[in-house]
Amino acid sequence: MNKLENYICGKWISGEGEGQILFNAVNGTPIVSASTAGIDFEGAMVYARKKGGPALRKMTFHERGRMLRALALHLLAKKELFYTISYQTGATKIDSWIDIEGGIGNLFANASLRRKLPDETFALDGDAIALSKNNSFMGHHILVPKEGVAVHINAYNFPIWGMLEKIAVNLLAGVPAIVKPATVTSFLTEAVVKEIISSGILPDGSLQLLCGSAGNLLDFLTSQDVVTFTGSAYTGRLLKTHPRVISESVPFNMEADSLNCMVLGEDVQPGQPEWDLFVKEVKKEMTVKAGQKCTAVRRIFVPENKIEDIGKAIASALHQTVIGNPLNDKVRMGSLAGMGQREEVKQQVQQLLSVSSIISGSLDSVSVVDADDVNGAFMSPLLLMNERPFVNTASHDIEAFGPVSTIMPYKNMDEVVELSKLGKGSLCSSIVTADNNIAKQYVLGAASHHGRILVLNEECAKESTGHGSPLPLLVHGGPGRAGGGEEMGGLRGVKHYLQRTAIQGSPTMITAISNVYQQYAKGNVSGRHPFRKYFEELAIGDQIVTEKRTITSEDINRFADLSGDHFYAHLIKTDFEGTMFEEQVAHGYFIMSAAAGLFVDSYEKNPVLLNYGIDELRFTKPMYAGSKLYIRFTCKEKAAQETKEPNPDIQMPKGSDIPKGIVKWLVEMLDDNDELVGIATILTMVQMKN
Ligand code: NAP
Repeated sequence: MNKLENYICGKWISGEGEGQILFNAVNGTPIVSASTAGIDFEGAMVYARKKGGPALRKMTFHERGRMLRALALHLLAKKELFYTISYQTGATKIDSWIDIEGGIGNLFANASLRRKLPDETFALDGDAIALSKNNSFMGHHILVPKEGVAVHINAYNFPIWGMLEKIAVNLLAGVPAIVKPATVTSFLTEAVVKEIISSGILPDGSLQLLCGSAGNLLDFLTSQDVVTFTGSAYTGRLLKTHPRVISESVPFNMEADSLNCMVLGEDVQPGQPEWDLFVKEVKKEMTVKAGQKCTAVRRIFVPENKIEDIGKAIASALHQTVIGNPLNDKVRMGSLAGMGQREEVKQQVQQLLSVSSIISGSLDSVSVVDADDVNGAFMSPLLLMNERPFVNTASHDIEAFGPVSTIMPYKNMDEVVELSKLGKGSLCSSIVTADNNIAKQYVLGAASHHGRILVLNEECAKESTGHGSPLPLLVHGGPGRAGGGEEMGGLRGVKHYLQRTAIQGSPTMITAISNVYQQYAKGNVSGRHPFRKYFEELAIGDQIVTEKRTITSEDINRFADLSGDHFYAHLIKTDFEGTMFEEQVAHGYFIMSAAAGLFVDSYEKNPVLLNYGIDELRFTKPMYAGSKLYIRFTCKEKAAQETKEPNPDIQMPKGSDIPKGIVKWLVEMLDDNDELVGIATILTMVQMKN
C-alpha cells in the first residue's frame, strides 16, 4: 500500500513501518497509510528556526503578503485536483468548496491585510505615548516576528482550510510552520502541501508537514514557538499542559469542543420570513459537512409555545436532505470522516438520549443514494428534544460531532441568555429575530460566553455568510469549553506570532528606530521644499516651518460665506455670553485650509500627484481674529504603491501606470504663542523618480 509522505527538512520522507491505514469514508476501502515513525522531530524544529524563520524575517509584510497572494493563485489553478481527492473524506461539493476555496480565500484575505501593515520587517502597534513634560522622552510599542516555529495540530474535519487559515497568518507575520493534520484525512492535506512545495513560492523551511502521529515533537518546543490546536478538549488539555509548553511559556491557542447554539427570537411567528430563515439555517448547520463543523449548531433554543411547530418544520426540512455518494449531484449530505468517527458520534448520542428523545431521524438506519450504507460512514441527521434544559443539563455538555442537534424550550430573554451560557463557552451563537431590542438584549447578555454572535433576519439574510462560517477578518475562537483561543481576526491573528515590545527613548531616537516621524523629534529643515522631492528622495523627518499668516475677521466672514457654514461661533454679531468662546472664532476647516495655503508649494508642477486625504484632524485651541498662524510640516511615513499590472481588457484610470507612493505628513498648526491650535496627518500621492 502507498504511504503518505512527510515533508521534513526540505525533503519528502516516508515514515518507517506499516503506519496507520486511511480509508475512503464513502465506501470503506483502504487508500493509503501514514507514518511518522523514525522522523527527526527535533531536526524539523531546528530546520524551521534556522532556515525558514530567517528567510521569512528578511521579507517585509508587503513581500510576505504578495507571497500569500501568489500561493493563493497557484492553489486556485490546481483546485480541481483537490476536489477529486476531497470526496473521499465524505465531503460533498459544497463541503469541499468550504474546505478548498474557503482555505484559499483565507490566503487572499491575509495577503490583502498587508496593506494595513508597513512595508517593513516590523510594525508599530498603537499610539505613541507621551512620558515627559518637556516632550524629550516617549514610549511606543514595536512588533517583531517571533523567532520560533508555529506548530499547528489540526482536526480531521477541514484538512485544507484547517491548515491554510492558520499558515496564512503565521506566514504573514514572518514565522515558519510545521503542520500536523489529523491523520484520518491527512491524504488531502498532503496533496495540497505537495502543490505548495513544488510551486517554490515559499522560502525553504517555512512549511513542513507531518502525516501521522506528532511523536515527541512538543518535547522540542522553545519559548519563541507558538502551538495551535484544534480538536477534542481532552487532547487539547493534554497538550496544553505538556511540560515544555509550561516550562517554556509557549503560547497555546486552543479550539476545542463547542456546543454552539441558535435562538429563535420571541417575536418570530410562523409565516414570517425569519421563521423560514431559522429552519433553513438550522438544517444547513446540521447537514453541511455532515455536522462535523466546529461551529455547527448543537443546541436550538425556541420559545416554549412554538417548540412543537418549529420541531415539525425542522424535521420536515431534514427529511428532504438527500444523503449518499458525495459525487452524486442530488446528494446534499455526505458521510462522516470515517467509521471510527461515526461510532464516536453514536456513543455521544446514546448519552444525550438519557436526557432527550429523537424527534427526527434514526440512530440505527440511514437511507443513502448511490452509496454503501454498511461500509460507508453515513448517518441520518438526528433532531433531539430536551424539554427540561435547566434540569437535564447533559445537552449542554455532550458534543456529538456529527449531524446531531437538540431543541430546547425557553420562557423569556433571561432564560435563553442563561441557557446559552450553560454551554460554558462556545465559538458561535446566532439569534434569528426582526426585533432590534430583542437582538440587543441577547447580544449584550450572552456575548461574554461566545466568540461570535450572528443576528440573522430578512434584512441581511441574502448576503449573510451564515452561522457556521468563521471569517478571516473576524475573531474565530471562544471562551471556556471552546478552548479560550482566538485565531484569525485580521491583524489580531497576526499579532499572535509577533512579539510586542515597549520601546522608550527620545522622539528623535524612536523616529530613527521606527522610520515613522514622532511628534517633537528633530526635523531636517535644510534643502528643497519636500513637495519638490520625488518619493525616493523624501526622508522621514524632512520638515518645513512656514511663515506666519494673520487670521482676520474678514477671512472668517469670507470663509463662512464661501462654505455656507454660518455656525453662530463664527459670526461677529453673536453674543458670546454662555458659549465656549470669547469672540468670533475661526472655523477649524478654515485653519486647516489656511494651513494648506502655507505649506503647499504652489504654481509649478511637482512630484506631488494629488492630495489623498486626512487621517486624523483635531482642533485643539480656538483661533480668534488677529492671531497669527504658522505650520510645522513634516514627512511622517512613506509607503510605496504597487503598480497594477496593465490589463488590455480594462481601461485603466489616468495615471495608474505612474510609479508612486503614499506619503503621510504631520501638520502641526501653531499660533503666535507657539501653542498648538490644530494637528493633522494628511496624505499625498507622490511620484517616484524611476
Ligand atoms: P483529537 O483526537 O483531539 O485530535 C485532534 C488532533 O490532535 C489530531 O491532529 C490528532 O492527531 C492530534 N493528537 C491527538 N493526540 C495527540 C497527542 N497525544 N499529541 C499530539 N497530537 C495529538 O480530536 P478528534 O477526535 O480527531 O476530533 C474531533 C473533535 O475535534 C471533536 O470533539 C470536535 O469538537 C473537535 N473540533 C473542534 C474544532 C474547533 O475549532 N473548536 C474544530 C474541529 C473539531 P491524530 O489524528 O494523529 O490522532
